[in-house]
Amino acid sequence: MYPAPFEYERAESVEDALSLMDEHSDSITELLAGGHSLLPTMKAGLATPDVVIDIGEIDALRGIENAEGSITVGALTPYSAVDDSETVWTETAVFADAAHHIGDVQVRNRGTVGGNIAHADPASDLPAALLAADGTVIAHGPDGERSIAADEFFEASYMTALAEDELLTRIELPKRGGHAGAYAKKPSPSSGYAIVGVAVVLETDGNTVTDARVAVNGAMDHAVRLEPVEEALSGESFTDETITTAAERATDDLDTAMVMDDLQASNEFRAQLVEVYTERALDTALDRSSVAPPAAD
Ligand SMILES: Cc1cc2nc3c(=O)[nH]c(=O)nc-3n(C[C@H](O)[C@H](O)[C@H](O)COP(=O)(O)OP(=O)(O)OC[C@H]3O[C@@H](n4cnc5c(N)ncnc54)[C@H](O)[C@@H]3O)c2cc1C
Repeated sequence: MYPAPFEYERAESVEDALSLMDEHSDSITELLAGGHSLLPTMKAGLATPDVVIDIGEIDALRGIENAEGSITVGALTPYSAVDDSETVWTETAVFADAAHHIGDVQVRNRGTVGGNIAHADPASDLPAALLAADGTVIAHGPDGERSIAADEFFEASYMTALAEDELLTRIELPKRGGHAGAYAKKPSPSSGYAIVGVAVVLETDGNTVTDARVAVNGAMDHAVRLEPVEEALSGESFTDETITTAAERATDDLDTAMVMDDLQASNEFRAQLVEVYTERALDTALDRSSVAPPAAD
């Protein structure tokens, strides 16, 4: 299908994008980043913006910076650049792992980190990774920049804390050298989107888990933390037994009636997948971690 007619604007800079957003604030506007969600939605007639503002040429929004204490990823950075970054894999493996699992090579070369997070599709891969990584979204609006913690960002299906007059410019991911992180996903056989995807980040002191952040995509209408799993891991030895016990608690806090239910997976099956993929993500994290195996008796 062809999209409905729309006006096209190209922004040359962040300031230019904000001014175009303001100029067209009485119309329905959409930002065009990688276009891999917006264009299919427009072609299907599910989005009919009056104005499309192309931000794809704003170079200042592209790139990965190894800053003090955090890794900064510009909104227009494609997933392939995240997956190719040794720095991201070393400092916040969960995010690189989630990017690695997205769609296929074309999607990974065109889709952008900012577009994925701003669009907040419940089946996208980056939201749970951002939550598990304890990341921060930087939004730029008419009054300047503000930071939004990942825990406050995702609100509902396709709904975030981003205001209509704000542009997501970058995300910040705390550096976690020496951590254990992983993302495990059951992909849709047709699209590659997550039927369920679980992101885990664990800090360890010797064999003991000192801090755990675990989050899931695809299960609820937006990415959510799995706090019972985090509680079951914290303070415990990082072993196969702990992982199995913790994963069994994956759906404790999820309202089963609200778990997503569609042609790809019933809510009952999805709930089972949440448990299975929590265990798989934790297993991978354990394999990748520097935790020494417990001493033999
Ligand atoms: C065949 C196929 C398979 C896919 N598989 C997966 C998958 O496995 N996992 C996955 O996570 N995703 C998948 N996707 C979706 C893909 O990752 C999209 O790229 C992503 O959802 C949106 O990013 P984008 O840069 O393409 O944004 P666009 O499509 O350009 O924009 C999407 C929305 O976000 C808004 N937006 C974009 N950038 C910003 C910004 N900087 N600030 C504020 N708002 C902004 C736009 O206004 C628009 O409403 C798939 C897509 C396709 C076509």
